[in-house]
Amino acid sequence: MKEKISPGMQQYLDIKANYPDAFLLFRMGDFYELFYDDALKAGQILELTVTSRNKNAEKPIPMAGVPYHSAKGYIDTLVENGYKVAIAEQMEDPKQAVGVVRREVVQVITPGTQVAQTENGKAENNYITALFSDTSGKFGFAYADLATGELKATHLENEEAVLNEASALQTKEMILSCAISDELKDNLTTRLQLVFSEQEKILELDEITHLTENLKEPLMLQATNALLSYLHATQMRKLSHLEIAQVYQTRHFLSMDHFSKYNLELTSSIRTGKKHGTLFWLLDETKTAMGSRLLKQWITRPLLSMEKIFNRQNGVESLLNSFFERSEIQDSLKGVYDLERLSGRVAFGHVNAKDLLQLKNSLEQIPRLQAILESINTGEWNDLLAEMDACPDLVDLIQQAIDENAPASITEGNIIKTGYNATLDEYREAMQNGSRWILELEEKERNATGIKTLRIDYNRKDGYFFHVTNSNLSMMKEFDYFYRKATLKNSERYGTEELAKLERVILEATDKSVDLEYQLFLDIRKIVETHITRLKRTAAAVATLDSLASLATVAENYSYKRPTLVPNGRTLEIIDGRHPVVERVLGNNEYIPNSIKMNEATNLLLITGPNMSGKSTYMRQLALTVIMAQIGSFVPAERAVIPLFDKIFTRIGASDDLISGQSTFMVEMMEANQALRHATAQSLILFDELGRGTATYDGMALAQAIIEYIHDNIHAKTLFSTHYHELTALSDSLGELKNVHVGAVEKDGVVHFLHKMMDGAADKSYGIHVAKIAGLPVDLLERAASILSHLENNEQKELPNKPTEEIAQLSLFQEISTEEIGVVDTIKKLNLLEMTPLDALNTLYELQKMI
Ligand code: ADP
Repeated sequence: MKEKISPGMQQYLDIKANYPDAFLLFRMGDFYELFYDDALKAGQILELTVTSRNKNAEKPIPMAGVPYHSAKGYIDTLVENGYKVAIAEQMEDPKQAVGVVRREVVQVITPGTQVAQTENGKAENNYITALFSDTSGKFGFAYADLATGELKATHLENEEAVLNEASALQTKEMILSCAISDELKDNLTTRLQLVFSEQEKILELDEITHLTENLKEPLMLQATNALLSYLHATQMRKLSHLEIAQVYQTRHFLSMDHFSKYNLELTSSIRTGKKHGTLFWLLDETKTAMGSRLLKQWITRPLLSMEKIFNRQNGVESLLNSFFERSEIQDSLKGVYDLERLSGRVAFGHVNAKDLLQLKNSLEQIPRLQAILESINTGEWNDLLAEMDACPDLVDLIQQAIDENAPASITEGNIIKTGYNATLDEYREAMQNGSRWILELEEKERNATGIKTLRIDYNRKDGYFFHVTNSNLSMMKEFDYFYRKATLKNSERYGTEELAKLERVILEATDKSVDLEYQLFLDIRKIVETHITRLKRTAAAVATLDSLASLATVAENYSYKRPTLVPNGRTLEIIDGRHPVVERVLGNNEYIPNSIKMNEATNLLLITGPNMSGKSTYMRQLALTVIMAQIGSFVPAERAVIPLFDKIFTRIGASDDLISGQSTFMVEMMEANQALRHATAQSLILFDELGRGTATYDGMALAQAIIEYIHDNIHAKTLFSTHYHELTALSDSLGELKNVHVGAVEKDGVVHFLHKMMDGAADKSYGIHVAKIAGLPVDLLERAASILSHLENNEQKELPNKPTEEIAQLSLFQEISTEEIGVVDTIKKLNLLEMTPLDALNTLYELQKMI
């Protein structure tokens, strides 16, 4: 027999059917309840106790609940784990409901629509993306941050570009309205742990079409429509704070593939995945969340426009030269809250009185910022000043309307200031008079009854009442106009006609004033909403100022200099450069500066030097310096002339690609392939020990072929480090290649690396000395030394006593003849158990003849 389902459960099942891929949080009184599989699964993830709804039934329904007031933490945990959460609220007052309370889903929170909060209060961007493609194999790509309202779209040429963009944005959710290859899908899920969502129906709403009015290209338009439809469908509210979609082109920015961004630790550390130790960490001295987000965007998208770079440099220089004004500005910025997200919340209808006060306090900083900027302006601040709007009308409104001590709740009154609205003031007066009348009545009845402790109290259940302790009860008998309202253990509660009348007046005034305050607040919120565009422009200007001030602060703290960038330049000259992050971590001037000089005739530097001597640090130093220069920052060097690079390719460090489980060598080759296919003469290529992931001769052969290819076909500025000393001979045949090496001195058998680059090739390998420093056993070191001396004296470079097993990896390039392969095959197929010794000898004879 089918089990009977209660109407409440039927309602649950009906709603759940629409949200099969989300946890449904079903509001029941003070709890959100989860049922069936949702309950079991959420029970595990959130460590909730799972009970059952109808314990005695044949098949009890699993159930778990989270209290309404602490639900946010639970929801966040689910979403951070990659799940979606649909929230069904009670849509009517349960007391007034006939039958089952009406419930509806009011919002679906997903990884890409979650409004993120970070530990340090500087909220980061959370981007949701959408991808669309037709048969052309090209893609329309759109992204938005629901909290800040950013909305952008672009066109991407291929899947590789999709992966790069998705990685740059660190998106956690992608709306797919097209087929993509399994490889891309795997890469996206393993690298970004993102979830895919679908949006089949494109909504034809004004608010959506209006946001896409700039988009002409069909692929972009489709992707953006899918994104907006999804946001509308999950958020179920206005999207009025979203900006009109802006088109951007990835080719307007310095191109770096995701490998390079990852390798260079621009915004997240390879080891920890966190910000600490990254370029972003180093440069982030911003004071506002908006500034911090913008700076991060700058770092992931260095510029190609000389004009834009120049403008940023001018801003940094202006602030660097005005120490006093800069600290004033930064002091002021500390008082600016997250205007972008505040505007988002205004539009979302989430904002409360405290938010509006924050908005006012933030805007009050603007005139000060404007004044300081004007005082140092020699033209470089014109644009920014034009964007900043202190919104005095808005400040006045909030100032006049909102009480400084307003509570977080917007439905319980005490929000609106007295003097703002005449009717509200009347109610308040009635309430105040009421309290006076109560005191007077209390006094009157105390005198009448002679009970000195008689007092009037109030609670929700009994309303106003006279509080009479048991010891005084006998005295009450004489006064029959008192009637009993409630009996407690030690006291009785009485009422009188007069008190009841007062109560009606007071409560009515209170009710009305609370209602009116709520209405007034909503009206104010509506007015604020009409200013969102102004607020967002101001927010963007503040963010820019904050980021520039941050770059100026870092430039001052670490004595960075303004670089000269040369479009189509062929000279790269960095004098006394440093690796900015290593320098900061080492501190105390311990970092040894290094120069790089490549003139028009030199495109490749071949760097030799032992392990741990500083080769990869030198390369990273260059990459970071270039990136810093192209975001408009000053750079860690005494002087720098840098060609404006169009792309950077790197293969640096031994970072095995553990995430995607590919072998080091495979990753090396994939990265090399990227560079060889896409680099131009205006690109920068950094290859650190390319080829070390495979057997020696393979590695060396590939390294040489790659160097030759770059030299002959690409002419990109290239740094190539290697421990194959044999490669240094290439300088004889390749005119654009120069050898450099890391200097070292050897004293009493101990090697000291100078971490200093010098011209020419290194003449000796110090590997064994490094092993000694690392503390390897003395016997072993002696053995290595003897092998080395044998090798050095042996032209053929054959290992002594030929330890054949050591070369386990079969070389791709070792020459094996087909005859040899035939011999091996024949031996493999022999069945030795069935062979006589004579058979064996004959076979051996045959085999010998084969080779
Ligand atoms: P390699 O690539 O040659 O194996 P690394 O670049 O990894 O060597 O550097 C080895 C160590 O030397 C690192 O710990 C790094 O911090 C330090 N180092 C490198 N260059 C310098 C320098 N110029 N000044 C001070 N320390 C350095």
